[in-house]
Amino acid sequence: MDALPDFRVLNPATLDEALAVRAAHPGSMALGGGTDLVVNIRRGIVAPPVLIDMNRVAELSAIKADANTLEIGASVRLTALVENPAIVQHYPALAQAASRVAGPTQRNMGTVGGNLCLDTRCIFYNQSEWWRDANSHCLKTTGSVCHVAPKSRGVCFATFSGDLAPALLALGAEVDIAGPAGKRSIPLDKLYIGFARQDVPVTETQGDGKYFLSLRSGEIVTAVRVTNTPGLRSAYDKIRIRKSIEYPVAGVAVALRRADDMLADLRVAFTGTNPRPILLEGTAELCGGKFGERVFKGLDALVRDQIMPMKTTFTPGHYRRRVAGVLARRLLTRLFET
Ligand SMILES: Cc1cc2nc3c(=O)[nH]c(=O)nc-3n(C[C@H](O)[C@H](O)[C@H](O)COP(=O)(O)OP(=O)(O)OC[C@H]3O[C@@H](n4cnc5c(N)ncnc54)[C@H](O)[C@@H]3O)c2cc1C
Ligand code: SF4
Repeated sequence: MDALPDFRVLNPATLDEALAVRAAHPGSMALGGGTDLVVNIRRGIVAPPVLIDMNRVAELSAIKADANTLEIGASVRLTALVENPAIVQHYPALAQAASRVAGPTQRNMGTVGGNLCLDTRCIFYNQSEWWRDANSHCLKTTGSVCHVAPKSRGVCFATFSGDLAPALLALGAEVDIAGPAGKRSIPLDKLYIGFARQDVPVTETQGDGKYFLSLRSGEIVTAVRVTNTPGLRSAYDKIRIRKSIEYPVAGVAVALRRADDMLADLRVAFTGTNPRPILLEGTAELCGGKFGERVFKGLDALVRDQIMPMKTTFTPGHYRRRVAGVLARRLLTRLFET
């Protein structure tokens, strides 16, 4: 096991203090539960000289949940989502997604902010320094080539694997952000810019896979919010290699509204497949007609076109895409029929 390098941990008590220390230490990183960040530090993947502990920032620790709206502070632990009766009742996809993250230890420490800003993963990246050095590193760290796609010309295809994002995308969430220039709110899907395109400069709306979040310098996520849609049913499920503690081979959230024997609204979101969580485009066209084979075939086509797993895990990409499609069909059927 690699030893942890030296770093300082600062403990702001208010959001203003957190932003001030973040601005004073440009190389710093926000620390939630540390269940991913500390692992990456130990592996020499990142080496922030300063960590800003978000866990004592009072404004970030609350859940406000009822049948109409949901607001969750960035420092809320995943276990609190699983145990909150209003979330279980009115936003079930989110409670189910939280319950399927890792194991109880990680859920007791891991936070909502850390899960939404979770680093992307790849078999060539989540390795020890020794292993990566023996393989000439890759361009997500200090190397020059992507081992998954050697002709990628600067683009990284590492996979986003956080479980909460698809559930929140299907629920239509917005994310609150604070930084040196003030506060702003954006639709959650705009937080993720990891979708890779070659030879295009990184901008606030277009990442290269290495930079996959639209956070500006010094910004942190402060909360995530949902306005409930009356009649919306939602669920989350994932396939993983080990049932106890494991990132998703593919994770799927479905939210729908039913009107008699028709779909009135359909949202389907995925994790564990692409460089960012994907809210399927085009599902509105599957609504309106009678529920049945036409909907399933349309859904399969959308999955085929938009879910693009690369060789970033030990599980082959075509299998992950098949699994994603099958899970989406199953959840859709279950939610429609209940
Ligand atoms: C064995 C194991 C299994 C795991 N399995 C899963 C799994 O199945 N599903 C899953 O989703 N995750 C999994 N994880 C990853 C992790 O435990 C969770 O994603 C957890 O929710 C991360 O939250 P954290 O607070 O610990 O994040 P941290 O590790 O503290 O931070 C993660 C990243 O988010 C940034 N960050 C933290 N808070 C903020 C903020 N407020 N604003 C901006 N950036 C912020 C950090 O700087 C860092 O880059 C696993 C981890 C381990 C060790
Ligand atoms: S996708 Fe390529 S660049 Fe990204 S982590 Fe994997 S090997 Fe490295």
